[in-house]
Amino acid sequence: MKTLLRTFISALALFGIVSAQGFYTMGTGGVTGVYYPVGGATAKIINDADVGLRVTVESTGGSVFNVKAIQADQLDMALAQSDVVFQAYNGEGEFDGAAYTDLRTIMGLHAEPMHLVCNADAGVSQFSDIAGKRVNLGNAGSGILNTVQQMLEVKGMSESDLQAEYLKAAEAPDFLRDGRLDCFFYTVGIGAAAVRDIAATSDVTIVPLDDPEFGQLIEQFPYYAFATAPAGTYGGQDEDVTLFGVKALYVTSSAMTDDEVYTIVTAILDNLDAFRAIHPALADLTTEDFLSGLGAPLHPGAERAYQEAGLL
Ligand code: GLU
Repeated sequence: MKTLLRTFISALALFGIVSAQGFYTMGTGGVTGVYYPVGGATAKIINDADVGLRVTVESTGGSVFNVKAIQADQLDMALAQSDVVFQAYNGEGEFDGAAYTDLRTIMGLHAEPMHLVCNADAGVSQFSDIAGKRVNLGNAGSGILNTVQQMLEVKGMSESDLQAEYLKAAEAPDFLRDGRLDCFFYTVGIGAAAVRDIAATSDVTIVPLDDPEFGQLIEQFPYYAFATAPAGTYGGQDEDVTLFGVKALYVTSSAMTDDEVYTIVTAILDNLDAFRAIHPALADLTTEDFLSGLGAPLHPGAERAYQEAGLL
C-alpha cells in the first residue's frame, strides 16, 4: 500500500503537481512515552532542514510492532529498544528462527530503563515482591513485554506467578490510580510523562531494579545496562534509584538508500542543540551514545554521515 502511494506521489511529482520530495513514516510508541515526542520533534528538525525529505510520525504499540512494520514495508523508520533490535537481527526471542537481517541502525539514543511503578500500599519494594500482585506487563507488540519476560525468567519467575495484565502503557496509570492494578512496568526514557504524572498525583514507589540476577543479564547480553534515575526525577522519589534496562535506537531497513539515511543523520547532527532539547531523556546524549549498543549494523548512509562529522 505504501509502495503504491509512493508511486502515485512520484507520478504527481513527474507532472509537477507536487514537489519531488521523499515521504517517510516513522513509528514511535504511546503518546505518554518518550518515543512519540522525540519522533515528532526529530521529524520537525528533518522537515525544517528542507533537504527534500518529509517525515510523518505515527503513534504505535512499541518496539516489536515497529520492527515488524519496517519488515512489512509499512514504516520506513522507527524507534525501537536495543534488546528487540538485537533479537530481531539475530532471530532470537520474539523473532526466533526468523532473523531480520536487513534491519539497520541509524542512531543510538537515550537509556530506556525498566520502570516498575507500584502503589505505595501494595507492599512492593523489590522485583520479586510482585508475585501474586496485579501487574501490567505491557501490550503485545511493545518492547516492555519483551523485556519483562526476560527479567521474570532470570528471576526464576513466570507470568503465571502474577495476575498479569497486558494494557498499553498509556492506559496503565489510570488503572493504578483506581486500584485496579498494583504495579505497572514501562521500559521508557527517564522522565517520561506517564511516570511523572502518576508520581505527581499518587503515592507510588519506583522500585529499585539492582538485583544481582539483572547484573548477570548485563554480563551475558551487550544490550542491557543499569541506569540511574536521579533523586527528584519523579514526585516522592527522594533518593537515586538504580534501574535495569536497555537503550533506544533509530532503526530502518537496508532498503532505505544511503543518500536518504545520510541526509537524515546529517540533519540531526547539524541541529544537535535542538535535538538534545527535545526531551530531558536526550539532554545528556553524547556523540558516543549515537554509536554504542546498536543491536543491528549501522546503515552505510549513517556511517558516511558519522565519518564526515569526524565521529567514526
Ligand atoms: N520502549 C517502549 C516500547 O518499545 C516505548 C517507550 C516510549 O514510547 O518511549 O514499547
